[in-house]
Amino acid sequence: MKDAFGVPMQIEIKKRDGDELEFVLSDASPAFANSIRRAALRDVPILAIDEVEFKVNDSAMYDEIIAHRLAMVPLITPQKGYVLPGECGCSEGRCEKCSVDLALKAEGPSMVFSESLKPSDEQVRPVSSSIPIVKLESGQRLELVAIARLGFGREHAKWQPGVIAYKYMPVLEFNPKLCNACGDCVKACPREILEVVEKKVRVKDLSQCTVCKTCMETCSTKAIRVYGDPTKFIFRVESTGSLPPDQIILKALDSLQARFEEFPKLVKKL
Ligand SMILES: [Zn+2]
Repeated sequence: MKDAFGVPMQIEIKKRDGDELEFVLSDASPAFANSIRRAALRDVPILAIDEVEFKVNDSAMYDEIIAHRLAMVPLITPQKGYVLPGECGCSEGRCEKCSVDLALKAEGPSMVFSESLKPSDEQVRPVSSSIPIVKLESGQRLELVAIARLGFGREHAKWQPGVIAYKYMPVLEFNPKLCNACGDCVKACPREILEVVEKKVRVKDLSQCTVCKTCMETCSTKAIRVYGDPTKFIFRVESTGSLPPDQIILKALDSLQARFEEFPKLVKKL
């Protein structure tokens, strides 16, 4: 992969664990890193409950509040199969190509959890079965059909696929001529990432540094310099479970690529 100036970039996966992904992007620019972050949050479509048809609601909560709670239940988005309502041939956004019905029927006394949502497509089930929706007292009933559709995070937070953030790679420089290995910086570091070994300060885990500069300010001999490298970024992706985290990044890059391919066509029309 190359950035806009033809400089080859590097990606190194640091951690991949279920819904979490951590990678280091090198030889890139802050603008490019932020483009990936913004595209991942705004332009990756996932399924979320978008409309609710209530048949019975005897609970203490208004229909609108229950609909809002249902919208926030993350649903598994199959990687192939659904189209955006705006791109579907049907006019209402209610056909099987662009929507999924999730039926819910419950009677109190009970706590209604997300596991009670029964989808018309088994692949589109809630990510977690134990998200509380509403509590029903004895004799109270709740019956509804929730309609899930694809949408974008730029329209509503319910369509955000997760949390995507990055920070500049920290750089810690120690001047051996000025450092007397007094250990003040080791005690001052709030992340406890420094240690003194053989009268030299060493960094135990650089990725844990938040560039707070406490060590730099504590050092009486001014032997430490701390800064963020604006060409190297530590990305952290935490998916809601709707899509695998690597798919979120790949789809974000697809969306960026599509926009850059569109741009010259628009310029030629000028
Ligand atoms: Zn449709």
